[in-house]
Amino acid sequence: MPEGDVDAALAAAERELADGVEVPVGTNGTNVALVGAGIVNLMTALTLVRAGYRVEVFERAPDPRGDADWTAYGCTRGGGDGRMFTLTEADSYNSRSWPTNDLLTRSVTDHGWLVAKPGGLSTQELAWAADFHRMPGWLAASYTQDIFDANRAAGVGWDRLMASDPGLFDGYRDGILRLYTDDDYYRWHVDRNERIGATRRVLTPDQVRAGYPSLADAPVAGGIEVVGFTVNIHQFLARLVDLLAAQGVTFHWDTTITGINWAQPGVPDGVLRDGEVLRADHYVLSPGAYGEELLRGTASHGQIMGMLGVWLTVPNVEPRLDHSVKIARKGHRAEETNVTLGTGPDGEPILICGAGYGWTGTDPANIDSTELEMLFEALADTIRRFFPKAYAAALETGMLAASRRICVRPWTASCLGVFETMVTAGGGTLVVTGGHNTGGFTQSPDVADAVLAAFTGRRHPMHTRFHPRRLARAYSGDGVSLRITS
Ligand SMILES: Cc1cc2nc3c(=O)[nH]c(=O)nc-3n(C[C@H](O)[C@H](O)[C@H](O)COP(=O)(O)OP(=O)(O)OC[C@H]3O[C@@H](n4cnc5c(N)ncnc54)[C@H](O)[C@@H]3O)c2cc1C
Repeated sequence: MPEGDVDAALAAAERELADGVEVPVGTNGTNVALVGAGIVNLMTALTLVRAGYRVEVFERAPDPRGDADWTAYGCTRGGGDGRMFTLTEADSYNSRSWPTNDLLTRSVTDHGWLVAKPGGLSTQELAWAADFHRMPGWLAASYTQDIFDANRAAGVGWDRLMASDPGLFDGYRDGILRLYTDDDYYRWHVDRNERIGATRRVLTPDQVRAGYPSLADAPVAGGIEVVGFTVNIHQFLARLVDLLAAQGVTFHWDTTITGINWAQPGVPDGVLRDGEVLRADHYVLSPGAYGEELLRGTASHGQIMGMLGVWLTVPNVEPRLDHSVKIARKGHRAEETNVTLGTGPDGEPILICGAGYGWTGTDPANIDSTELEMLFEALADTIRRFFPKAYAAALETGMLAASRRICVRPWTASCLGVFETMVTAGGGTLVVTGGHNTGGFTQSPDVADAVLAAFTGRRHPMHTRFHPRRLARAYSGDGVSLRITS
C-alpha cells in the first residue's frame, strides 16, 4: 500500500478508536459552578445562561474590568490586548520538533522552546515532553484536522454571536494578512489555506508592498489575506462580564477553588473553597495553565502544561497598518508573531504584538529570566524589521519597555484541547476543559457548545476528539494495532 494510504488508514483507525470511547454524562439539574473566568469559561457561561442554566463563576484573579496589575490574571486577561480568529489558529505543533525531537527540552537560547529554569524538570514533565516529541507525522496531521474542525465549528458560533450581540465586538477588525519570509514555507501555507477554504487573496511581495504601505520595507516572500478577525480581548472580556452579570450570572472574584470534593474516586461531589464544600448540579473546571492542584484526581491532571508568550505594544504610525497581521519567520525565535490593531487609552491607534513559545513545564511561573529576555528580543527584532518607524517611536517614548507583558497558554502534548466528563454524585456532569494552546479564543464557542451538549446528553465531536486519554491510547495501541513510528 502507498505510504499516504497507510497513513490515512492509521489516522482513520485511531479516530475510530477515539470516537468509540464512552463519554459519561449526567443531565440532572440546572445549577452550574464554573471555575476559572478566562475566555473559554466565560463563553461557556454565556451559552449556559442563555440555555436556561443558573451560573456561578469562581475566579482566583480580580475582576478583569478593574485595573489590578496585569500579573494577577490568567492567560486571556494577563497578556496583550489582542486575539485572532483564523481557521488555522491552532494546529499540531509536534512536527516542529523533528528531526531532533528535543524542541521542548532545548533552551530558547539554543533555538528550542524551553523557558523553564535549567535542571528542574520532573520525570512527569520529561515524559510529557517525550510524548510531544515522538508523535508520528500521520497522527500530527490527523490531530490538526480535528483542531481545524473545531475552529470551523467555532467560527459558526462566532458568527452567531456577532449577529446576536454586536455590542460585544467594538474594535472588531475583519480579515487577517498572513506574511511569510521563507519561500517554501509560504508556498506550503498557500496550499494549506486554499485547501481549507481560508484564502481570500494570495499576494506576491510586490502586491504586499503596494497594498500595505506600512509594510513597504518588510522582508516578505509573500502574503495571504485570509478569513478571520481580531478583537481587543481585554475590552471584549470586560463587555462579556457586563453582559453575563446583566443576564444573572454571579461572579466570585479573588476566590480560589482548591480542589474537587470526591464522593469516591471518579465521582465528584462538589468543589472546595477554603475547606468548605460548594455544591452545584454541574461543574466546569477551566483553569488554563493553572490547574495542577485543582485537577488532582481527574484524567486531565498533568496533561496541561504552560507555554509562555511575550507581548509588546507600539504606536500604529503613518502610513498606518489597516489589517491585523500574522508574521511567520521560519527558524526565528519569534517564529509566529500576531499583530493586532488596537486603540490605546487615549484613543490613539496601536499595534499589539504577541509571539514566542516558552515551555514552562507544569508550573507557569517556572521562567528563566535569560530565556525570557531572548523571547522579548526576538519579538522586538520582528517589530523592528517589519515596522521600523513604529519601533523607533516606541523605543523613544519608552512605550516599548512599558508595554512588556507575558502570558502562559495552556498546552497539551497532543496539541489537542482537553475535554473530560464525569458523572457527579448528584447525577450531573463535571467537565474539565482547556489546553487549547494557541487557539483558546478561537475555539471557545465550540467548547461552550460541547459543555451544553454534555449537560443535555447530546453527543459532540469534542467529547471524544479532545478526550484527555486519547494520545495515551494511541501510543499504547489500546484495542487496535496502530503502528506508531516517527
Ligand atoms: C502570545 C499569544 C498570542 C495568542 N494569540 C491567540 C490568538 O490570536 N487566538 C487564539 O485563539 N488564542 C491565542 N492565544 C491563546 C489564548 O490566549 C489562550 O488559549 C486562552 O487565553 C486561554 O484561555 P483559558 O480560558 O483556557 O485560560 P485563562 O485565560 O488562563 O483562564 C483560566 C482562569 O482560571 C483561573 N483559575 C485557575 N485556577 C483556578 C482555581 N483553582 N480557582 C479559581 N480560578 C482559577 C485563572 O486565574 C484564569 O483566570 C495566544 C496566546 C499567547 C501567549
